[in-house]
This record gives sequence, C-alpha cells and structure tokens, in this order.
Amino acid sequence: MPTRNSTDVIVIGAGVVGAACAYYAARSGLDVTVIDRGPVAGGTTGAGEGNLLVSDKEPGPELDLALLSTRLWRELADTLPPRIEYETKGGLVVASDAHGMAALREFAARQARSGVVADEVPPDRLHDLEPHLAPGLAGGFHYPQDAQVQPALAAAQLLRAGGERVRLRLGEEVTGVLTGSGGRVRGVCTPSGDLHAPHVVNAAGTWGGEVARLAGVTLPVLPRRGFVLVTEPLPRVVRRKVYAADYVADVASDSAALQTSAVVEGTPAGPVLIGASRERVGFDRSLSVAVLRRLAAQAVRLFPVLTTVRAMRTYAGFRPYLPDHLPAIGPDPRAPGLLHACGHEGAGIGLAPATGLLVAAMLGGDGHRGELPLDLKPFGPERFDGSTDPRKEPGHGA
Ligand SMILES: Cc1cc2nc3c(=O)[nH]c(=O)nc-3n(C[C@H](O)[C@H](O)[C@H](O)COP(=O)(O)OP(=O)(O)OC[C@H]3O[C@@H](n4cnc5c(N)ncnc54)[C@H](O)[C@@H]3O)c2cc1C
Repeated sequence: MPTRNSTDVIVIGAGVVGAACAYYAARSGLDVTVIDRGPVAGGTTGAGEGNLLVSDKEPGPELDLALLSTRLWRELADTLPPRIEYETKGGLVVASDAHGMAALREFAARQARSGVVADEVPPDRLHDLEPHLAPGLAGGFHYPQDAQVQPALAAAQLLRAGGERVRLRLGEEVTGVLTGSGGRVRGVCTPSGDLHAPHVVNAAGTWGGEVARLAGVTLPVLPRRGFVLVTEPLPRVVRRKVYAADYVADVASDSAALQTSAVVEGTPAGPVLIGASRERVGFDRSLSVAVLRRLAAQAVRLFPVLTTVRAMRTYAGFRPYLPDHLPAIGPDPRAPGLLHACGHEGAGIGLAPATGLLVAAMLGGDGHRGELPLDLKPFGPERFDGSTDPRKEPGHGA
C-alpha cells in the first residue's frame, strides 16, 4: 500500500520515456511516483521534433524496438486525446543522384527483412508526394510507417492516462539513491525527504549517467547537441517528413564533430520544422548561427519554396547519447532494484512506448514478470561496466 513516503516504483524523469514507463507500469497495477527536478517535458523531450521513425534505422535491435513502438504509438493514439497531434504522415527519403539511389535501395531491401515497408518512388513521381520538392532529384523511398507526435503533449497525456496510480512530484531533484544490504536499491533522497520503493527507474535522459552514479554504477551518457529551426506558419507546403540520404550516416556517426543534414517537415499548426544538427560539445547552449545557416541552406536545397520564408525561432536540445547508439533498458545487475530507461539519443520520442512496455514487464506488475516481446540483451546497462567515467570524456561539458 503506497504512502506519502513509499510507493511500488519511483521513476526519475518526467520526459516522454519516464512518462511511458509510468503509464505502462500503472496499467499493470503498480503505483508509481514520477519525480522531476523541472516540469513535465522540461528536458530533451521539450526540445525534440517528435518524429517516430523506422526509415532511418539499420536492421538490428534499435529497429526492432522502433517497430514495436510504431505499433504501440498507433494504439496510444486511440487512447490518448487527439491533441498529442499523432499523424501517420510517412517519411520520404530522397537521393540526388543514381549512386545515392542505389544506396537507398540496398538499405530499404535490408530493412524490409525486418518488417519495414519502403516503396521506391521514381523521380517523376516525387512531386505527387511532395509538390514543392526541388526538381532534378534521382528518386526516393516512401516509408508509410513513419509518423509524428507532439512530444511534450504526448508526455503529459501519458502521465495523465496513468490515472490515480501515477503521482507526480515536480520541481524536486533526486540527490541520492538509497541502498541497503548487497547494494540493493531502496528508494531515493530529495531535499524534501526520502521516498522508499523496491524499484527505481532511471529515466533521466541525458542526465541518466549522473543518476546512475548516485546508485554507484557507470553509464556513459553524453549530450549530443541539436538545433532546430522553426519557420513562420505556412499552408501545408511540406506534407511528410523529408530528408536526404546522407542523414542516416550522420545519425549513425560516432564523431563528436558537427554534422548537419536537413530534415524538413510540416506540422499541423503551420510552422515547418527544419532539423537537426548533431555535435558533441557538452551542455553548451550558445546559439550557433553558422549551424543554423547550414541547416537552412540544406532545407532550401530540398524545398526551394522555403527561400523567402522567415525563421520564427530556433531551439536546442541535448540528445542522450550512449557510445553504441543504443539505449540502456532494463535492470542493472550491479545495483539490484535499479532499472535504466535512458540514452535514446535522437529517437527517444519514437522509442518511448516500447521502452515503457518493456520496463513495466520487467517490474512484474500483476504479480508476475510479463513475457518480453524483445531480446533485451543488446540494451543491457552492464555492457558499459568498466567503461571510462563520462565526465572525463572529450565533449562532456558539465
Ligand atoms: C534537436 C533534437 C531533435 C530531436 N528529434 C527527435 C525526433 O524527431 N524523434 C525522436 O524520437 N527523438 C528526437 N529527439 C530525441 C528525443 O528528444 C530524446 O531522445 C527524448 O526526448 C529523451 O527523452 P527522455 O524522457 O529520456 O529524457 P528527457 O526528456 O530529457 O527527460 C529526462 C528528465 O529527467 C529529469 N532529471 C534529470 N536528472 C534528474 C534528477 N537528478 N532529479 C530529478 N529529475 C531529473 C530532467 O529534468 C528531465 O525532465 C531529438 C532531440 C533533439 C535534441
């Protein structure tokens, strides 16, 4: 029976991943307290674009997680209010020459074996899908499973949909993790007192490494900065998420250096979002006009109609980056009772429901550990055991 000072599960972080963990845990009959030092979606979730993508993922564990999430987002869209702005608008990846097109074809064929639907679009049909696309492209692939959601609203509505089983404590920082015999986690400390629970979920996103450290374990989460440009509201000149073939290589890159490859998409509210850069510069928030110029130039190359459109604002966020580009999901054998759900880098909005479902299954609500729909081994947090402390790595600012 939960009290003010105890609950079944503590989730640290009220971003979209923490919200999904809370939602699925509550649905399995557990009482959950979500603690965040800021507001709901005040971390990276409030700085993301909300693409739910399979198109940019190599076959492997991340794609499997994305495909599971694709199905779950569809279910959630029927459960949560329409204001989460879930849209099954699909993605369009374009190539500028025959060489790029051959690479896209090979990539799509490999993805198809994992269950991804990708339809080749010849150059003379591109404008049926996107009338304002630049002329002269070599063709592309349409990915009907790609979708979109408004991340901050989705996080808030997931928490609300958890009902009375989900309690929120905002503006409260977790400053310590309580442990008992054998290092077993028993709860957390905050400035307003201790809260006890047999399970603590680390859904602290880019700060997941710091929370892990409070429990005495290493998780080398680093910030990977991204800028997004937001245009003035427009009629629907961009219908889907559209990006050039080199975006996939940028996402997969391990380099700390700047990468930009424009991803352009319209939104129901009118503004076109132009994302996103990637660079590891620690938690440096300074605006980089040079990066924004590059993004804008690349977007205009894809959609010349944007040349005279004004940018209304820009924002930056820090993707939670783990060195192998996979999130940490699941129990940490080094600190029994601690589960991780962090490190989703540039795909945490998309991957949140599958992460939440898996975490809830491992928490064993309804009196038993549920059957896991995926092999969790690749996401095991202990894979980083012995790795260097992220504070000593280049690119870690604070
Ligand atoms: C420019 C950009 C574009 C992106 N676009 C997309 C996209 O299109 N699609 C997609 O899927 N993903 C995208 N992402 C990535 C996505 O935003 C993240 O993967 C996702 O938001 C991570 O969610 P989270 O809940 O794990 O972390 P967060 O949203 O950061 O939540 C973590 C929370 O933990 C809290 N916290 C941390 N430490 C403590 C503590 N000690 N005590 C209490 N609270 C604490 C923080 O306050 C924060 O609210 C993008 C990211 C960026 C930067």
